[in-house]
Amino acid sequence: MFTMEVAKSCLGQSTLLWLAPLALSLGLAGCGRSQPPPDIRPPIEASTPQPDSTDEEGSAGLFHIVEPGQTLYWISRHYGVPIEELIQVNHLNKPDELYVDQRIFVPGARVLTWSWPVPGGEILSYFGERRNGHRHTGVDIRGRKGQEVLAVRSGRVLFSSSMRDYGRTVILDHGDGLRSLYAHNSKLLVQKGQQVYRGQAIARVGQTGNATTEHCHFEIRRGEVPVDPLPYLRQ
Ligand SMILES: [Zn+2]
Repeated sequence: MFTMEVAKSCLGQSTLLWLAPLALSLGLAGCGRSQPPPDIRPPIEASTPQPDSTDEEGSAGLFHIVEPGQTLYWISRHYGVPIEELIQVNHLNKPDELYVDQRIFVPGARVLTWSWPVPGGEILSYFGERRNGHRHTGVDIRGRKGQEVLAVRSGRVLFSSSMRDYGRTVILDHGDGLRSLYAHNSKLLVQKGQQVYRGQAIARVGQTGNATTEHCHFEIRRGEVPVDPLPYLRQ
């Protein structure tokens, strides 16, 4: 209304006639992207990956739970998804005012974080340390005998059996060229070919094979080649 008044007073009639349909079309465009109430969520199909399987290939996305201090910019950077897309898909009226525990749907995102294989277990020995003339091919993580060893990421069991110095060992194939290996277990809880999810118990800590104490020898392999696991686990 104010605009029209201004238009009337400042512009000639012909200009006003030209402006009117423009204002109308702008108004319609505004309606087209009208903001639904904040409680409207993205399509449910997009939000149904199992809690621990969101790093499966082809995931439609995931819900990020906002933690203290996190901004939309942070989420955008973290998952590599444009801010505009986050605003649009989440119908955010106030993108600069996220609140703690707010659920932000991140389209196309995959969980990149890996979980720790032995909860609470400290590192006894690092990757690359020289021992008996050999480079250590993984990290040794302390654990109590019988404590659960957890899959660090979802994947398929490639190997679950005994392996010379490694003792009772599980190897998971994560489908993107990376594998994780868990050695010296007292007990194996999964079988070859089985699908496992991040955080699932796959073995129990032990001292089988060439081990001097109860621990999990943990490796990440790129194909057959062991790489330092810590940069992955600390993502
Ligand atoms: Zn080791």
